Amino acid sequence: MSYDAIVAGGGHNGLVCAALLARAGRRVLVVERRERTGGILDGVVSTVGRLRPALVAELELERHGLELARPPIRMLALREGGAPVAFWADPGRTAEGLAAVSGADATAYPRFDAHVRVLARFLGELAEITPPRLDAGALGDWQAGLRLARAYRRLDSRSARELTRALPMAAADFVGEWFATDAVRAALAARGSLFTAMGPWSAGTTAVLLADSAGNDGGAAGQTAFATSGPAALAAAIESAATAAGATIRTRAEVARVLVRGGRVHGVALASGEEIEAPVVACGVDPKTVLTRWLDPEEAGPRLRWRAGNIRTPGATAVVDLRLSGPPAFSGVDDPQLLAGRIVVAPGIDHVERAFDCWKYGGLSERPYLEATISDGSMHVLAQWVPHDADPDAVGDLVVAELERHAPGIGSSVADRRVLTPALIERDFGLSGGHVYHAEPGLDQFFAWRPVLGLARYRLAVPGLYLCGSGAHPGGGVTGGPGQNAAREILAD
Ligand SMILES: Cc1cc2nc3c(=O)[nH]c(=O)nc-3n(C[C@H](O)[C@H](O)[C@H](O)COP(=O)(O)OP(=O)(O)OC[C@H]3O[C@@H](n4cnc5c(N)ncnc54)[C@H](O)[C@@H]3O)c2cc1C
Repeated sequence: MSYDAIVAGGGHNGLVCAALLARAGRRVLVVERRERTGGILDGVVSTVGRLRPALVAELELERHGLELARPPIRMLALREGGAPVAFWADPGRTAEGLAAVSGADATAYPRFDAHVRVLARFLGELAEITPPRLDAGALGDWQAGLRLARAYRRLDSRSARELTRALPMAAADFVGEWFATDAVRAALAARGSLFTAMGPWSAGTTAVLLADSAGNDGGAAGQTAFATSGPAALAAAIESAATAAGATIRTRAEVARVLVRGGRVHGVALASGEEIEAPVVACGVDPKTVLTRWLDPEEAGPRLRWRAGNIRTPGATAVVDLRLSGPPAFSGVDDPQLLAGRIVVAPGIDHVERAFDCWKYGGLSERPYLEATISDGSMHVLAQWVPHDADPDAVGDLVVAELERHAPGIGSSVADRRVLTPALIERDFGLSGGHVYHAEPGLDQFFAWRPVLGLARYRLAVPGLYLCGSGAHPGGGVTGGPGQNAAREILAD
């Protein structure tokens, strides 16, 4: 069988790209190293509220079995020495609860939520376009530029000024301009640091915060939605859409090299030695892997290899799954509905920054910043910031100790636990540095600079070679955006 395109790496973005190419009539093969597709979605529990709604409709994912649940609560911020603060999908309801903490914060919240939505809407438009070439213009670039200019003009003049001011800001400053209470500031700002190597006082975390709410209904508290049968069900639905359109999926097929002949791509070589031919290879893995390991150094050339080697991939997130023998009892939580969204342990800005500082100097903070969800009798905890080679047991102990402060007795109800440090995420999911976003979402690796300047248009160094994973614009998270944008560019070529 011959193929028009090979998608190398069957994470959700690779599957999206494959499904869209197959629906456009191309013969597509997905080769995935693991025993199942889905990438990170197959191994860890995550929320999927950032998934592009238009993609759900276009791929008819509901017909392919996807069912989304959106709890009314988005986030519960645990506090030290005070009742937790609930952030609801309805900003008015959040403001009512905030009134017990601070009247000023309660008044500010609906306005802040609206403000975040306006700025995030622009980033949603930005996410959908292919970054322009900065060296020379082309017709496609002008169309993208025009779309962007229209979106920018739709902002009122204050919001337009505010956008350019806010993007490079530290999230702590951005949020601090609106709220007085440290715990409220921290809970809202921390989202700009999750999965990153940046603390809340780092420049550019406001861009991450706003991008998290771009293209979805996130607003100030961020989106919270779950695939009812777990995140793997989302991957299964996209895979089903891809195979229904004619794509072929091969698992346990590890790509070792991209084959290049006469200056253009002509397929991939698997680790088994098998070679598969196709004029297009779309890579759903991280860009550093493709450019420094899969591509022959002679084809990449020394300069590109050097630049690709400098793509920043500092994984700093660990996952701790706790199977519990009974429901956890959090102080101040009398309604189980409050635990149905994201549960955040970020009691103060400096508390979160100190956890980051510790990691910055190579250590593991005694008091990590945590974000957790509960499903099927288990608690799934993201711990930020964890050194690459941290001892998994030490990480698990620290996380349980931190949770004990808010849910006394939780430690004795842990029946089993699994810890994935960045090193283990790197090993199990094949991600450089264990970075779950494939590349750090700093401003130097944003938009036309993602993954590096000159390669942000999904086309990599050799004709026929493309990037369709989270290392491409608009970046990481369960959005399907890089896969969808890359498919559009491949078809355009
Ligand atoms: C613990 C955790 C929690 C998260 N929570 C959330 C969340 O709540 N919300 C959210 O939006 N995002 C979350 N994320 C981030 C999000 O899951 C990722 O950014 C996103 O899923 C990446 O998707 P992808 O398709 O780009 O890449 P991946 O899922 O990384 O897929 C890459 C695929 O390539 C395969 N591969 C690797 N090497 C090879 C090879 N040599 N040959 C063939 N195949 C190969 C891998 O096995 C994998 O299937 C979380 C991530 C983690 C780790």
